[in-house]
Amino acid sequence: MLVFNTIKKLKVYLNTLRVEKKSIGFVPTMGALHDGHISLVQQSVQDNDVTICSIFVNPIQFNNKKDLEKYPRAMVKDKKMLEDSGCDIVFNPSENEMYPEPIEAKYNFGSLETVMEGQFRPGHFNGVAVVVKRLFDIVEPDVAYFGQKDYQQLAVIKKLIEIENLHIKIVGCPIVREFDGLAMSSRNTRLNEKERKEASFIYNMLKEAKEQLLCNTPVKDVKNYIQDRFDSNSWFQLEYFEVAEPNRLEPVQVIKEQEKARLFIAAYLGDIRLIDNLEIYS
Ligand code: AMP
Repeated sequence: MLVFNTIKKLKVYLNTLRVEKKSIGFVPTMGALHDGHISLVQQSVQDNDVTICSIFVNPIQFNNKKDLEKYPRAMVKDKKMLEDSGCDIVFNPSENEMYPEPIEAKYNFGSLETVMEGQFRPGHFNGVAVVVKRLFDIVEPDVAYFGQKDYQQLAVIKKLIEIENLHIKIVGCPIVREFDGLAMSSRNTRLNEKERKEASFIYNMLKEAKEQLLCNTPVKDVKNYIQDRFDSNSWFQLEYFEVAEPNRLEPVQVIKEQEKARLFIAAYLGDIRLIDNLEIYS
Protein backbone atom coordinates (compact mmCIF):
# COMPACT_ATOMS: atom_id res chain seq x y z
CA MET A 1 0.00 0.00 0.00
CA LEU A 2 1.33 3.42 -0.96
CA VAL A 3 0.97 6.47 1.27
CA PHE A 4 0.96 10.00 -0.16
CA ASN A 5 0.95 13.28 1.75
CA THR A 6 1.22 15.70 -1.17
CA ILE A 7 -1.21 16.37 -4.00
CA LYS A 8 1.55 16.63 -6.58
CA LYS A 9 3.07 13.19 -5.94
CA LEU A 10 -0.33 11.58 -5.68
CA LYS A 11 -1.47 13.07 -9.00
CA VAL A 12 1.66 11.92 -10.80
CA TYR A 13 1.07 8.38 -9.56
CA LEU A 14 -2.67 8.40 -10.35
CA ASN A 15 -1.91 9.57 -13.89
CA THR A 16 0.21 6.49 -14.50
CA LEU A 17 -2.79 4.38 -13.45
CA ARG A 18 -5.10 6.27 -15.78
CA VAL A 19 -2.72 5.71 -18.69
CA GLU A 20 -3.04 1.99 -17.90
CA LYS A 21 -6.86 2.46 -18.01
CA LYS A 22 -7.24 1.33 -14.39
CA SER A 23 -10.56 2.14 -12.74
CA ILE A 24 -10.20 4.14 -9.54
CA GLY A 25 -12.47 3.77 -6.51
CA PHE A 26 -12.30 6.40 -3.81
CA VAL A 27 -13.28 6.36 -0.11
CA PRO A 28 -12.98 9.74 1.66
CA THR A 29 -12.71 9.51 5.47
CA MET A 30 -11.60 11.45 8.51
CA GLY A 31 -9.70 8.48 9.92
CA ALA A 32 -10.12 6.71 13.30
CA LEU A 33 -11.34 3.90 11.09
CA HIS A 34 -13.74 1.14 12.06
CA ASP A 35 -15.53 -1.66 10.22
CA GLY A 36 -18.04 0.83 8.76
CA HIS A 37 -15.26 2.60 6.87
CA ILE A 38 -13.68 -0.72 5.96
CA SER A 39 -16.95 -1.94 4.41
CA LEU A 40 -16.71 1.00 1.97
CA VAL A 41 -13.08 0.14 1.16
CA GLN A 42 -13.99 -3.51 0.60
CA GLN A 43 -16.82 -2.53 -1.75
CA SER A 44 -14.40 -0.37 -3.71
CA VAL A 45 -11.77 -3.12 -3.83
CA GLN A 46 -14.41 -5.45 -5.22
CA ASP A 47 -15.60 -2.96 -7.86
CA ASN A 48 -12.36 -1.28 -9.06
CA ASP A 49 -8.81 -1.95 -10.18
CA VAL A 50 -7.40 0.49 -7.63
CA THR A 51 -8.79 1.78 -4.34
CA ILE A 52 -7.68 4.99 -2.70
CA CYS A 53 -8.73 6.10 0.77
CA SER A 54 -8.18 9.63 2.04
CA ILE A 55 -7.69 10.43 5.72
CA PHE A 56 -8.17 14.09 6.46
CA VAL A 57 -9.89 15.63 9.48
CA ASN A 58 -11.57 18.50 7.69
CA PRO A 59 -11.63 21.54 10.02
CA ILE A 60 -14.16 23.51 7.97
CA GLN A 61 -16.95 20.98 8.46
CA PHE A 62 -16.86 21.24 12.25
CA ASN A 63 -19.25 23.82 13.61
CA ASN A 64 -18.15 22.97 17.15
CA LYS A 65 -14.50 23.70 17.93
CA LYS A 66 -14.34 21.23 20.84
CA ASP A 67 -15.65 18.44 18.61
CA LEU A 68 -12.77 19.13 16.19
CA GLU A 69 -10.17 19.21 18.98
CA LYS A 70 -11.46 15.96 20.46
CA TYR A 71 -11.90 14.16 17.16
CA PRO A 72 -10.08 10.80 17.52
CA ARG A 73 -6.91 10.22 15.49
CA ALA A 74 -5.31 6.81 14.98
CA MET A 75 -3.05 6.88 11.95
CA VAL A 76 -0.96 3.77 12.68
CA LYS A 77 -4.00 1.57 13.31
CA ASP A 78 -5.81 3.11 10.33
CA LYS A 79 -2.99 2.23 7.94
CA LYS A 80 -2.90 -1.34 9.20
CA MET A 81 -6.68 -1.73 8.76
CA LEU A 82 -6.52 -0.29 5.25
CA GLU A 83 -3.64 -2.53 4.25
CA ASP A 84 -5.48 -5.58 5.60
CA SER A 85 -8.62 -4.68 3.64
CA GLY A 86 -6.81 -4.49 0.28
CA CYS A 87 -6.65 -0.70 -0.05
CA ASP A 88 -3.94 0.32 -2.56
CA ILE A 89 -3.35 3.99 -1.76
CA VAL A 90 -3.75 6.22 1.29
CA PHE A 91 -3.88 9.98 0.85
CA ASN A 92 -3.15 11.77 4.14
CA PRO A 93 -2.59 15.46 3.41
CA SER A 94 -1.89 18.24 5.90
CA GLU A 95 -4.31 21.14 6.37
CA ASN A 96 -1.89 23.41 4.49
CA GLU A 97 -1.77 21.02 1.58
CA MET A 98 -5.57 20.92 1.32
CA TYR A 99 -6.23 24.59 2.01
CA PRO A 100 -3.22 26.71 1.00
CA GLU A 101 -5.59 29.67 0.64
CA PRO A 102 -8.79 30.66 2.44
CA ILE A 103 -11.82 28.83 1.12
CA GLU A 104 -14.70 30.81 -0.30
CA ALA A 105 -16.91 28.29 -2.08
CA LYS A 106 -20.55 28.49 -1.13
CA TYR A 107 -22.99 25.89 -2.34
CA ASN A 108 -26.76 26.04 -2.32
CA PHE A 109 -28.18 22.65 -1.46
CA GLY A 110 -31.74 23.91 -1.06
CA SER A 111 -33.90 22.05 1.43
CA LEU A 112 -31.07 19.62 2.23
CA GLU A 113 -29.39 22.45 4.11
CA THR A 114 -32.36 23.51 6.19
CA VAL A 115 -33.55 20.21 7.65
CA MET A 116 -32.04 17.95 10.34
CA GLU A 117 -28.21 18.12 10.19
CA GLY A 118 -28.48 21.22 8.03
CA GLN A 119 -30.57 22.97 10.66
CA PHE A 120 -28.53 21.91 13.68
CA ARG A 121 -25.05 22.15 12.15
CA PRO A 122 -25.00 25.41 10.16
CA GLY A 123 -22.22 25.50 7.59
CA HIS A 124 -21.45 21.80 8.04
CA PHE A 125 -22.53 20.61 4.61
CA ASN A 126 -20.81 23.47 2.84
CA GLY A 127 -17.59 22.42 4.59
CA VAL A 128 -18.17 18.80 3.58
CA ALA A 129 -18.90 19.77 -0.03
CA VAL A 130 -15.80 21.96 -0.27
CA VAL A 131 -13.47 19.20 0.93
CA VAL A 132 -15.13 16.48 -1.13
CA LYS A 133 -14.99 18.64 -4.29
CA ARG A 134 -11.33 19.35 -3.59
CA LEU A 135 -10.63 15.65 -3.06
CA PHE A 136 -12.57 14.73 -6.23
CA ASP A 137 -10.48 17.24 -8.22
CA ILE A 138 -7.29 15.70 -6.85
CA VAL A 139 -8.20 12.02 -7.15
CA GLU A 140 -10.56 12.16 -10.17
CA PRO A 141 -12.11 8.82 -9.24
CA ASP A 142 -14.49 6.78 -11.38
CA VAL A 143 -16.54 5.79 -8.35
CA ALA A 144 -16.75 7.23 -4.82
CA TYR A 145 -18.18 5.42 -1.80
CA PHE A 146 -20.14 7.00 1.05
CA GLY A 147 -21.96 5.44 4.00
CA GLN A 148 -25.69 5.66 4.60
CA LYS A 149 -24.74 6.27 8.22
CA ASP A 150 -24.43 9.91 7.12
CA TYR A 151 -27.49 9.68 4.92
CA GLN A 152 -28.02 13.42 4.53
CA GLN A 153 -24.35 13.84 3.61
CA LEU A 154 -24.80 11.20 0.91
CA ALA A 155 -27.75 13.21 -0.46
CA VAL A 156 -25.63 16.39 -0.39
CA ILE A 157 -22.82 14.66 -2.30
CA LYS A 158 -25.27 13.48 -4.98
CA LYS A 159 -26.46 17.08 -5.27
CA LEU A 160 -22.85 18.30 -5.46
CA ILE A 161 -22.25 15.95 -8.40
CA GLU A 162 -25.28 17.50 -10.11
CA ILE A 163 -24.30 21.11 -9.34
CA GLU A 164 -20.69 20.64 -10.48
CA ASN A 165 -21.63 18.33 -13.35
CA LEU A 166 -19.04 15.75 -12.27
CA HIS A 167 -18.72 12.36 -13.92
CA ILE A 168 -18.25 10.31 -10.80
CA LYS A 169 -20.55 7.47 -9.77
CA ILE A 170 -21.67 7.78 -6.16
CA VAL A 171 -22.32 4.53 -4.28
CA GLY A 172 -24.16 4.59 -0.94
CA CYS A 173 -23.20 1.69 1.35
CA PRO A 174 -25.31 0.20 4.17
CA ILE A 175 -24.77 1.16 7.82
CA VAL A 176 -22.47 -1.19 9.72
CA ARG A 177 -23.54 -1.69 13.33
CA GLU A 178 -22.06 -2.97 16.59
CA PHE A 179 -23.42 -6.22 18.12
CA ASP A 180 -26.14 -4.26 19.98
CA GLY A 181 -27.25 -2.18 17.01
CA LEU A 182 -25.25 0.99 17.71
CA ALA A 183 -24.16 2.45 14.36
CA MET A 184 -20.38 2.36 14.16
CA SER A 185 -18.83 5.81 14.42
CA SER A 186 -15.38 7.20 15.16
CA ARG A 187 -17.04 9.22 17.94
CA ASN A 188 -18.12 6.02 19.74
CA THR A 189 -14.56 5.66 21.07
CA ARG A 190 -15.23 8.77 23.16
CA LEU A 191 -18.12 7.13 25.03
CA ASN A 192 -17.27 5.94 28.53
CA GLU A 193 -18.17 2.38 29.59
CA LYS A 194 -21.55 3.34 31.05
CA GLU A 195 -22.50 5.56 28.13
CA ARG A 196 -21.52 2.83 25.70
CA LYS A 197 -23.95 0.42 27.44
CA GLU A 198 -26.78 2.93 26.96
CA ALA A 199 -25.90 3.89 23.39
CA SER A 200 -28.00 1.27 21.57
CA PHE A 201 -31.10 3.14 22.81
CA ILE A 202 -30.97 5.27 19.65
CA TYR A 203 -31.23 2.27 17.32
CA ASN A 204 -33.91 0.71 19.52
CA MET A 205 -35.96 3.89 19.22
CA LEU A 206 -35.60 3.85 15.44
CA LYS A 207 -36.79 0.24 15.37
CA GLU A 208 -39.76 0.97 17.64
CA ALA A 209 -40.75 3.98 15.54
CA LYS A 210 -40.53 1.89 12.39
CA GLU A 211 -42.76 -0.81 13.87
CA GLN A 212 -45.35 1.75 14.90
CA LEU A 213 -45.36 3.41 11.50
CA LEU A 214 -45.73 0.03 9.80
CA CYS A 215 -48.82 -0.47 11.99
CA ASN A 216 -50.20 2.80 10.63
CA THR A 217 -49.69 4.87 13.78
CA PRO A 218 -49.82 8.53 12.67
CA VAL A 219 -46.41 10.19 12.25
CA LYS A 220 -47.36 12.88 14.79
CA ASP A 221 -48.10 10.26 17.48
CA VAL A 222 -44.88 8.38 16.77
CA LYS A 223 -42.91 11.63 17.09
CA ASN A 224 -44.55 12.38 20.42
CA TYR A 225 -43.86 8.85 21.62
CA ILE A 226 -40.17 9.02 20.70
CA GLN A 227 -39.84 12.46 22.31
CA ASP A 228 -41.41 11.07 25.53
CA ARG A 229 -39.07 8.07 25.54
CA PHE A 230 -36.04 10.38 25.24
CA ASP A 231 -37.44 12.75 27.87
CA SER A 232 -37.67 9.88 30.34
CA ASN A 233 -34.13 8.66 29.59
CA SER A 234 -31.71 10.80 31.61
CA TRP A 235 -28.69 9.70 29.54
CA PHE A 236 -29.88 11.34 26.34
CA GLN A 237 -30.80 14.71 24.99
CA LEU A 238 -32.78 14.34 21.76
CA GLU A 239 -31.92 16.93 19.14
CA TYR A 240 -34.34 15.72 16.49
CA PHE A 241 -36.36 12.71 15.44
CA GLU A 242 -37.64 13.05 11.90
CA VAL A 243 -39.52 11.06 9.31
CA ALA A 244 -38.43 12.17 5.85
CA GLU A 245 -38.69 11.16 2.22
CA PRO A 246 -35.35 9.68 1.16
CA ASN A 247 -34.23 12.03 -1.63
CA ARG A 248 -34.93 15.63 -0.76
CA LEU A 249 -35.25 14.65 2.90
CA GLU A 250 -38.28 16.80 3.43
CA PRO A 251 -40.35 15.87 6.50
CA VAL A 252 -43.21 13.46 5.86
CA GLN A 253 -46.50 13.96 7.73
CA VAL A 254 -48.34 10.92 6.42
CA ILE A 255 -46.80 7.66 5.25
CA LYS A 256 -48.71 6.07 2.42
CA GLU A 257 -48.45 2.34 2.04
CA GLN A 258 -45.18 1.17 0.48
CA GLU A 259 -44.02 4.74 0.03
CA LYS A 260 -40.36 5.16 0.78
CA ALA A 261 -39.53 7.10 3.91
CA ARG A 262 -36.63 7.12 6.34
CA LEU A 263 -36.29 7.74 10.06
CA PHE A 264 -33.56 9.99 11.43
CA ILE A 265 -32.31 10.67 14.95
CA ALA A 266 -29.63 12.97 16.35
CA ALA A 267 -29.09 12.92 20.10
CA TYR A 268 -26.45 13.78 22.65
CA LEU A 269 -25.19 11.04 24.95
CA GLY A 270 -23.20 13.03 27.51
CA ASP A 271 -21.38 15.55 25.33
CA ILE A 272 -21.12 13.24 22.34
CA ARG A 273 -23.48 13.80 19.47
CA LEU A 274 -24.66 10.62 17.76
CA ILE A 275 -26.73 10.24 14.60
CA ASP A 276 -28.48 7.25 13.08
CA ASN A 277 -31.17 6.46 10.53
CA LEU A 278 -33.29 3.59 9.33
CA GLU A 279 -35.40 2.95 6.26
CA ILE A 280 -39.05 2.07 6.72
CA TYR A 281 -39.69 0.16 3.51
CA SER A 282 -36.82 -1.47 1.66
P1 AMP B 1 -16.09 9.80 8.44
O1 AMP B 1 -14.68 9.35 8.63
O2 AMP B 1 -16.91 9.75 9.68
O3 AMP B 1 -16.19 11.10 7.71
O4 AMP B 1 -16.76 8.73 7.49
C1 AMP B 1 -16.22 8.41 6.24
C2 AMP B 1 -17.22 7.60 5.48
O5 AMP B 1 -17.53 6.40 6.18
C3 AMP B 1 -18.56 8.35 5.28
O6 AMP B 1 -19.03 8.11 3.97
C4 AMP B 1 -19.45 7.69 6.31
O7 AMP B 1 -20.82 7.75 6.00
C5 AMP B 1 -18.92 6.27 6.29
N1 AMP B 1 -19.30 5.58 7.54
C6 AMP B 1 -19.05 6.00 8.79
N2 AMP B 1 -19.59 5.16 9.69
C7 AMP B 1 -20.21 4.18 8.97
C8 AMP B 1 -20.96 3.01 9.32
N3 AMP B 1 -21.20 2.68 10.57
N4 AMP B 1 -21.41 2.23 8.31
C9 AMP B 1 -21.19 2.57 7.02
N5 AMP B 1 -20.49 3.65 6.63
C10 AMP B 1 -20.00 4.45 7.58
